[in-house]
Amino acid sequence: MSNCIFCKIINGEVPNHAVYEDKNVLAFLDIFPHAKGHTVVVPKKHYQDLEQLPEIEWKNLAIGLQKAMDRLRKVLNPEGFNIGINNHEIAGQAVGHVHWHILPRWQKDGGGSMHSIIKNPGEQGVEKIAKLFI
Ligand code: 5GP
Ligand code: ZN
Repeated sequence: MSNCIFCKIINGEVPNHAVYEDKNVLAFLDIFPHAKGHTVVVPKKHYQDLEQLPEIEWKNLAIGLQKAMDRLRKVLNPEGFNIGINNHEIAGQAVGHVHWHILPRWQKDGGGSMHSIIKNPGEQGVEKIAKLFI
């Protein structure tokens, strides 16, 4: 997509610091890192959000994520990772090209867990919500 910043990075129009690349995905350092080695993994084809991502691209992206994590482990030796996707604007997605964040973690880095994204479970309780899935 011509006005997409990540497509421009993939096409080489905008420079990046690659962490891992194969024919399907590119993983590169985030320009405004929230952790040392903060990396985003993106499919080389443009998809706006996860709902548009075909199954095969999900698989390719997951393989790219694993390879990028291997690379980060070897180079930076983190003690753990958070990985996550902001899917749709409401969830914090600013760039409309699917991307998987990798946040390497270390002792005393001041960060939280996935649970620190939201703590608002609603009024209904788990039992009521569970019934909706029957
Ligand atoms: P989102 O909020 O959409 O999940 O995250 C988009 C991420 O892309 C942000 O963390 C932002 O810092 C990163 N980003 C945006 N523009 C660029 C860019 O031009 N280069 C790089 N390397 N990262 C970018
Ligand atoms: Zn794009």
